[in-house]
Amino acid sequence: KINSPLEAYKYLPQTNCGECGEPTCMAFASKLIDRSGKTENCPPLVKEKKYAKKLAELDRLLAPEIRQVTIGVGERAANIGGDDVLYRHKLTFFNKTKMFFDVSDSMEEAALIERVKKIADFKKFYVGRNLLIDGVAIRAASNDPAKFAAAVKKVAEVGLPMIFCSFNPAVLKAGLEVAKDKNPLLYAANKDNWKEVGELALEYKVPVVVSAFNDLDALKTLAKTFAEAGIKDIVLDPGTYPTGKGLKDTFTNFLKIRRAGIMGDTEIAYPIMALPLTAWMAGIADPVSASYWETVMASVFTIRYGDIMILHSMEPYAVLPEVHLAETIYTDPRTPVSVDGGMYKVGAPDKDSPVFFTTNFALTYYTVESDISANGIVCWLLAVDTDGIGVEAAAAGGQLNSAKVKDAFEKAGFDLKTDTNHNTLIIPGLSARLQGDLEDTLGAKVMVGPMDSGRIPGWIEKNWPP
Ligand code: SF4
Repeated sequence: KINSPLEAYKYLPQTNCGECGEPTCMAFASKLIDRSGKTENCPPLVKEKKYAKKLAELDRLLAPEIRQVTIGVGERAANIGGDDVLYRHKLTFFNKTKMFFDVSDSMEEAALIERVKKIADFKKFYVGRNLLIDGVAIRAASNDPAKFAAAVKKVAEVGLPMIFCSFNPAVLKAGLEVAKDKNPLLYAANKDNWKEVGELALEYKVPVVVSAFNDLDALKTLAKTFAEAGIKDIVLDPGTYPTGKGLKDTFTNFLKIRRAGIMGDTEIAYPIMALPLTAWMAGIADPVSASYWETVMASVFTIRYGDIMILHSMEPYAVLPEVHLAETIYTDPRTPVSVDGGMYKVGAPDKDSPVFFTTNFALTYYTVESDISANGIVCWLLAVDTDGIGVEAAAAGGQLNSAKVKDAFEKAGFDLKTDTNHNTLIIPGLSARLQGDLEDTLGAKVMVGPMDSGRIPGWIEKNWPP
């Protein structure tokens, strides 16, 4: 395993030819280490035979501790695993926890289509990106190969990655026959069916879950057997107890597996599957309580170390916290989430509309934007590029100053004197200290707005027009 650009550099051609888009091989080596670049982006390394050995060795050394497994195909293919650390602050976590929601092959066709459509259409806009549901898990409740194949055919039409859920190899095979090219995940091989399910994974070249309920030795043995048979894309299911002491055992199992994998036990260094939908099988009669427990379990295993999970409740109060938490935990702490700097329109502003600014930290920008737009305020909103740092920290740290704001106006091609009738800028209350400087630098009237963008509507009512 290599961790520094200098070590990766040793395996590169060292000609600084620039074909990878980087000025030097050392710059490219840095990208390999932080995983923003791949060896395939260095054409000489890939094409020239004399580098073949170095390429193979470099790929081996750069491989993450936890194997990355891909489910599905195309744009919506879901990558899971691929982590190198136990704690996010040590690097970052890669490949956000993937959420698959279940359908059953015993559902009426209309209900099945409606639920699959709901899963595929789920979309929540959050700080500049859409949070989506990642795939569909098809449960073979009927245990009938023909029925299961018919359900798979219907679900495959939406193009999301799929998990085939059955311990019956004949059922799994029927599903694979109608979705040969979709790269579904097979759930699951256990102590009874491992031979047949393993053969299916090899024959159809698809990823597969090995499952042993609360028995890590058996789980490891299954994974080892599959790896020795040539199956590379393995996912581990140590079982998910829904409540009580059992849930604690499950949590401990997840910790043990991931710790062993990161510490170099390659026999168990695979992504882990959690099954929060077991909350529905724990005898909780009230559906709201079952949804609640399912969401609690999803949260626990998003934080520790569920790479993929199967869920049931599609209620917004269950899905929204689940997808938000995964997005938060897997945000790269090395890179602030930012929007492009520039002038944005909220509504259709004209020369009499107020002009605000904020920084390009995505959370700040979208909070301000939604507080303004949700209250029907039509305005100009300048996002000043502070490398993705929020207003208060940027004003204190020097990334936000009057020269930066002037520069942002110039880059946006917006002149307060000619593009507005009021020559006025409203600044965030948290950057009040810049008021005097900004008036001098911009030659404009500068008003200090509220500390909190939620108070902009009340502020505008009292203070605008100036
Ligand atoms: Fe170096 Fe390869 Fe990039 Fe050329 S393409 S500069 S050899 S890393």
